[in-house]
Amino acid sequence: MGYERKNINSMQGYQYGEQAQGADILKLNTNENPYPPSPKVALALKSFDATTLRRYPNPNADEFCALVAKLHKIEPNKIIATNGGDELLRLAITTFVEPHAVVGRPDPDYSLHSTLAEIQNSRLYSIPLLQNWELPEDFSAKMNAAQASLTFVTNPQTPSGKLLSLSKIRKLVASLNGVLLLDQTYVDFADDKHKQSSIDLINEFENVLILRSLSKSYSLAGLRIGYALGAAQLIQPMRTKTKDSYNLNSITQNLACAALSSQEYMQEIWEKIKISREDLSQSLTAIGWKITPSQSNFLLAETTEKIPKSAENIYSELRQKNILVRYFDQPRTRNALRISVGTQQENQRLLVALKEICAG
Ligand SMILES: *Cc1c(COP(=O)(O)O)cnc(C)c1O
Repeated sequence: MGYERKNINSMQGYQYGEQAQGADILKLNTNENPYPPSPKVALALKSFDATTLRRYPNPNADEFCALVAKLHKIEPNKIIATNGGDELLRLAITTFVEPHAVVGRPDPDYSLHSTLAEIQNSRLYSIPLLQNWELPEDFSAKMNAAQASLTFVTNPQTPSGKLLSLSKIRKLVASLNGVLLLDQTYVDFADDKHKQSSIDLINEFENVLILRSLSKSYSLAGLRIGYALGAAQLIQPMRTKTKDSYNLNSITQNLACAALSSQEYMQEIWEKIKISREDLSQSLTAIGWKITPSQSNFLLAETTEKIPKSAENIYSELRQKNILVRYFDQPRTRNALRISVGTQQENQRLLVALKEICAG
């Protein structure tokens, strides 16, 4: 036994996607954006004044939050900026969940939820998704019965890529007694109407937090920045009490402002990815894979009787060809690969490899 708390000693730790590097590696495993960040970000980095680093950064990323406020037409006191979306998930547990209380989630969803619940020593309550990836009818009734203080729901979902309808999400928020953390990391790749009108939820309800991340949609996974929107009474305890005083360094704040000011450039990239997603989806379907319609920048590709090998074997053979995709050895995903959408050229390389593997 070490000196750490018992629950830390017995927990496993988050299993992150492989972060391999190398010129020939095609990385389609962690849903990174295949395009570079906005040229404004590169410019901001080049012209960043290193002498300003002797000062502490702005504690609440005020300039960044002002841009978020303008983008979503909401008040700045309904926004918190965090060190990646992951920091917000951790803050939400720290702030809203008593030790030993219940954290709820559908299963499957982002696996970091369980790791964070274990760190807090809270109890994780998972409710299986239906076969069509919808939440079961009694999802919120069960969460309420279990007295879940906080429920995570990712939408568009992972690993399916499916978008749950806004009316279902609204019903869910209205019926949950605890806080709903609606993780919209992938919403920039979804239907624009859903993306805009889901923001209204935070003005209508006092128990919903919406999480956005710049990692995937703004091509800034390496920068570490995300933000959450919610009623001031949800945001303020995190802003003023539970977050690190200086959770975002000044370089990140500066570059993130440049990224948010690049809506036109980003919009073009999101459209390109949506097109490649549909092309890739059609091509995979044509060679025998079953694809769940995705509103995200990845596809869940399930094997069918037309695919002669197991998903796990195909994952390994792809890896030997320097192509990384994600394989989750879990009941719902054992026969599937989660594939991040790359550029048209990258997707082509994947398709060629898949055809070779399945022919051999
Ligand atoms: C990637 C991801 C996040 C957050 O990522 P950050 O890089 O920490 O911003 C949150 N939720 C889901 C479902 C994700 O896939």
